[in-house]
Amino acid sequence: MSATSSPVSLHPADTLPPAVGTVLRGIPAVGGVQYAPVIRPGSRPSVESTTATAELEESRRPGEVARFTAAAAAVADRLRERAANASGAASEVLATTAQLAQDRAWIAATEKRIGQGNPAVTAVTGAVDQFVTMFTQLGGLMAERVTDLRDIRDRVIAELDGLPEPGVPVPEVPSILCAEDLAPVDTAGLDAALVVALATTLGGPTSHTAIIARQLGIPCVVAVDGLDSVAAGTMVMVDGTAGTVTVAPDEDVASRAVAVARGEADLAKSWNGPGATADGHVVAILANVQDGAAARAAAETPAEGVGLFRTELCFLNRSTEPSVDEQAQIYGEVLEAFGGSKVVIRTLDAGSDKPLKFVGHPDEANPALGVRGIRIADGNPGILTRQLEGIAAAAENTGNAPWVMAPMIATPAEAKAFAEETRAHGLVPGVMIEVPAAALLADRILEHVDFLSIGTNDLTQYTMAADRMSAELATLTDPWQPAVLALVAMAAKAGAAVGKPVGVCGEAAADPQLACVLVGLGVTSLSAAAAAVSAVGAKLSQVTLAQCQEAAAAALDTATAAEARAAAAAVLA
Ligand code: PEP
Ligand code: MG
Repeated sequence: MSATSSPVSLHPADTLPPAVGTVLRGIPAVGGVQYAPVIRPGSRPSVESTTATAELEESRRPGEVARFTAAAAAVADRLRERAANASGAASEVLATTAQLAQDRAWIAATEKRIGQGNPAVTAVTGAVDQFVTMFTQLGGLMAERVTDLRDIRDRVIAELDGLPEPGVPVPEVPSILCAEDLAPVDTAGLDAALVVALATTLGGPTSHTAIIARQLGIPCVVAVDGLDSVAAGTMVMVDGTAGTVTVAPDEDVASRAVAVARGEADLAKSWNGPGATADGHVVAILANVQDGAAARAAAETPAEGVGLFRTELCFLNRSTEPSVDEQAQIYGEVLEAFGGSKVVIRTLDAGSDKPLKFVGHPDEANPALGVRGIRIADGNPGILTRQLEGIAAAAENTGNAPWVMAPMIATPAEAKAFAEETRAHGLVPGVMIEVPAAALLADRILEHVDFLSIGTNDLTQYTMAADRMSAELATLTDPWQPAVLALVAMAAKAGAAVGKPVGVCGEAAADPQLACVLVGLGVTSLSAAAAAVSAVGAKLSQVTLAQCQEAAAAALDTATAAEARAAAAAVLA
């Protein structure tokens, strides 16, 4: 949902519906193709029309407070009941949203407004607006709660007005759920047999909608321009790989596209590695993990090792720094899961959207441009040394020697200092290329380190000057942006010149088409979420190195992400 306080309506807008065959473009979030009728979430109360009510008499205010608290409690109860009937991540999302419905701060803010004479509906709207403004200003993870807050508002208002609860209807036939944006509570508990694809007007590749679609294994396109005017019941084809929604396509064409995509999915299921192109050019396909459990799960896939172990994610809830021994034990779990195979451990990437309590983060206006990643080492003497000691101990205990890389390196001097300290611990040093400056000087950075790993998530954010968490900027934070590809090409070329490996470990490596382009640009390994490993490996096994190079050259030659995608698809299809 947008950050502005516009009236909440998930109904198609009053514009003319797109013509038959119109191809609406968005950002691909989860691959696959589906063809089915559109369903839309139930209508939500119009907030503007509910805020213009006259002031309540004093004597009616306590009753109105009671009416509000009962409505909020009823909404929370219903969500808790759904949480009890759901499982896994869906259950957690529902339980968290139930908690939000009973959050003391917003309940108190609403009661205060009623106490000042606002009717309950107006008070709810005002209180939620107050928190939306606050969360939006805080940015990052807090801004992501805005959609949840507005969802709670709509449910409580519907309850107060005696209207049916807003949300996703249960379709009678397999359908494609289209919406402006989806609250986690809408998507939690969706049945993948009935909701076969998702498309939203807002949202980015890392939005809740995309995460849930990935979990459900259904195609998903976000930030689709013009989607609001596609009415419920319209047949559409969602292509989660190309990032398109085709309105009322030719039935035969759509059915064929669905069958081809299904064939590709089947092929992915039967792909067992190791990673190589059809003509035998070897490219290691690795997994991104955040702890031992994830590494053990990844070891069940054809992943040949770990290309990115995000160590900071092990410690998000810790208020004190873990001891060297404790760190050794945690890192050892990952090394053991991939005994004898390559594991790349990243030192703490604390700060920005991943603050750690035991790292004294300064109060910053722009945390993404502030003291994060390797930059925390200066203000936290010994923190890097102790982590390297923990990693070295884990290597010793398990007999598996990892490569170690630093996040957010911006200069060759930073790379040099990190490499010296890492080598002093008997470990193989590398750095992440996430800052454009580091990509531009990759050749000079490679004088100091043994490998590079390109973090396309941050490299895209910093190249395009667009917050990776922003739904509004999803077109800019698209790793297919030719400017990002040009920087990847520079880093890969610098690696090839000195015979040192250059991998990619950002989300770009999880997109099978883009993975082929990265290989064509000269990247030597790809590391992605474990769920994406098979699809990436299978796609690569179907194309030649020459095709990858041709697709890369074609993509580099374009001016927009959409053109780059289309140019590569023409070669790789
Ligand atoms: C990246 O920036 O691409 C990356 C892999 O690091 P993270 O997503 O953890 O910031
Ligand atoms: Mg990063």
